[in-house]
Amino acid sequence: MKMEPITDDIRNKGLEVFRNIRDSKLLSHLNSCRHCGFCAESSIYYQVNPDAKFVPARKADLVSSVYRRYCTITGKYLPGLFGARELNQDTVEEMVDLLFGACTMCGRCTLHCSVGMDISDLVRTGRNMLSRMGYMPGTLQKTADAALGSCNNLDISTEEFTDTLKWLEEDLKYDLNDDQAVIPLNEYGRRILYTLNPREPKFFPLSISAMAKVFHAAGESWTLSTGMYDVTNYAYYSGNLDEARVIAQRLFDEKNPTGTDNLCCGGGGRQLAMSEYNERRISIAAMKPHQIRDTGAEIVVTPCRNCIDQPAQINLTYKLGAQIKTLSEIVADSLVLKEKDTDTHKASSPEL
Ligand code: SF4
Ligand code: SF4
Repeated sequence: MKMEPITDDIRNKGLEVFRNIRDSKLLSHLNSCRHCGFCAESSIYYQVNPDAKFVPARKADLVSSVYRRYCTITGKYLPGLFGARELNQDTVEEMVDLLFGACTMCGRCTLHCSVGMDISDLVRTGRNMLSRMGYMPGTLQKTADAALGSCNNLDISTEEFTDTLKWLEEDLKYDLNDDQAVIPLNEYGRRILYTLNPREPKFFPLSISAMAKVFHAAGESWTLSTGMYDVTNYAYYSGNLDEARVIAQRLFDEKNPTGTDNLCCGGGGRQLAMSEYNERRISIAAMKPHQIRDTGAEIVVTPCRNCIDQPAQINLTYKLGAQIKTLSEIVADSLVLKEKDTDTHKASSPEL
């Protein structure tokens, strides 16, 4: 990837991140690594390609070593002795390649670290430095700019969004034979505000219909909103993972390892938004096809639309022949609604 040469001015923008740290947890993690190597096998990058550069601690040390060089007396005067590193062109190029291009921010290494060091938080700090210096990969910068300008990273206009909802609602009424089936937008006072991933209105609108069908069947008070889009790291950081699992388990089996110890599919941490690393992203997913084949699954359920794209590409590349669906789609497909009287479209909510 072609990068602008680093200057003093650019370097200072990156180092500002260290000068403004107010987070004692981050400070302690910058100084915690015991170099035990336990985290190595946690990362799918290292498991698939056991090169030392893919060990999570190595990624964290890229950030910590720069911190030592500029923010500690020992690192400043005896850099070689204390593993302190200049923030120069080589360092920056390595940081971009490993922090943006070789980490999905899944946090699995943090779970397995012998001292509980938050490695993905250090990766995030390194990404913050790179982005302030203007070294964010071009494709990711484009999506970030779109999100800032239009409240969603695919630059969907409000008009396009409302038009999509309109025809989806018409189809929903027709499919359910029920005029009460609606996709509410910007309705004040509803119990649930449901946020979408921008990929849904843009590429997969039928997953919105699936969710609307579930809400309708449950008689729920809900609404969508223009300008509210979800940023996901669902599987690891959602507040109700157990509940999502209970719903999925009623219909399907889980893979192993499971829960927070599951292996990342390889598409997280904005990997899907960075086409610069497409080849690496698909290659490090090599563990997933084995997990899926071991279950014998014909349908693979993922928590949200953002989690569909990487498994869908794995499905094609590794010729799994499975269907990949979201949890809401699978629940909507499984609903059996009571027949409605075709003459009375004004009837109350359908029953399960
Ligand atoms: S956060 Fe996940 S992808 Fe990143 S280094 Fe840790 S285990 Fe690897
Ligand atoms: S497990 Fe933790 S302490 Fe050990 S090398 Fe990895 S990051 Fe460092």
